[in-house]
Amino acid sequence: SCLLGIETSCDDTGCAIISDSGEVLGETLQSQNLMHLRNGGIIPDVAQDLHRKYIEPTVDKTLQAANISMSDISAIAVTLQPGLPLSLAIGMKYAKHLARKFNKPIIPIHHMEAHALVVRKEYDVSFPFLTLLISGGHCLLAVAQDVNKFLLLGESMDSAPGEVFDKIARRMKLRNVPEYSQMCGGQAIEMAASKATNPHMFKLPLPLAEYKDCNFSFNGLKTSVLYQLFKKEKVHNVDADKLIPEVNDLCAATLMAISRHLIHRTQRAIEFCSKNDLIPDKKKQLVVSGGVACNNYIFKSLTMLCNELDYAIFRPTPKLCTDNGVMIAWNGLEKWWRNIDIVTDLKTLDIKAQSPLGESLVDKVI
Ligand code: ATP
Ligand code: FE
Repeated sequence: SCLLGIETSCDDTGCAIISDSGEVLGETLQSQNLMHLRNGGIIPDVAQDLHRKYIEPTVDKTLQAANISMSDISAIAVTLQPGLPLSLAIGMKYAKHLARKFNKPIIPIHHMEAHALVVRKEYDVSFPFLTLLISGGHCLLAVAQDVNKFLLLGESMDSAPGEVFDKIARRMKLRNVPEYSQMCGGQAIEMAASKATNPHMFKLPLPLAEYKDCNFSFNGLKTSVLYQLFKKEKVHNVDADKLIPEVNDLCAATLMAISRHLIHRTQRAIEFCSKNDLIPDKKKQLVVSGGVACNNYIFKSLTMLCNELDYAIFRPTPKLCTDNGVMIAWNGLEKWWRNIDIVTDLKTLDIKAQSPLGESLVDKVI
């Protein structure tokens, strides 16, 4: 027996089939990335149309790759929250269609829980563990106590780091550099930063420096980066794409500033967890996931923090950090093993565009 996983919460149509021992038998990821790069961002109607177009071929292709038919599937795991409502709706409708046609139960999945849990497919990470989820739409710190039990310690008050990388990269016109033309903003900035010669020539603030909670804020940082870019353009009287050395330095400064903020907050979360016995000494584990976790500079910075504080650090392999169907199938399997959230009454299932992760302790972290 095996599970089918479907992911359509944002702009990727993802599907995977996983065996009941956790082996991926087939996976397909139909990305809309290039289309949205062209549009300068995700337009929800466009994303929905593409999901509608791709969902059936994506699932069919995955079944073929796994050499499996729907009758071999035990249950269908599908992302129902959080995400773009128009995008989530396509995954749900198609999952329900399959569930009805082949008489299968549905396992509803929380997209951020899936980002956090997929690490367990590859590494021996046990509950409870601390998790930092950094992506295009989220930035949060939480304790994963069990498969369906999370405690939220802090989250972003404004934008998410991936979104900030994407906006800054766009303003810097990094797409005009042929080498970066197919990359998302975060990747392009990481690559440009690696070419910096004088990253310290730009000074950027540490957001929320005086606050001891675990919340994040990136808008001030973003404004400061864009303002310094604007000033350079004025001084040299050219656009950003003619200022390669300065832009490389600014990319490095941006990356360092975002890392500093992430480390500052993660350190605070580690302190809070030890003071409140949320993570026992033998479970000192940090899981970093979400698209921004692909960033090696950020991961190295977090690794240094963890070494200092005696934490083990884990991140999924890069293609499991960004959105994918495997993490949904995996999360479904973790629920299947425990016999939780296996739903046969499909009417009770609906999407939830806004859906905070777990129980909030945000007000207690001060
Ligand atoms: P969410 O999970 O919050 O709904 P999402 O699903 O759109 O958001 P992901 O697919 O998890 O996000 O991540 C995409 C984001 O990751 C993009 O904003 C992209 O810029 C960022 N990203 C990808 N690779 C890197 C990298 N190497 N460095 C920094 N950021 C990166
Ligand atoms: Fe995601």
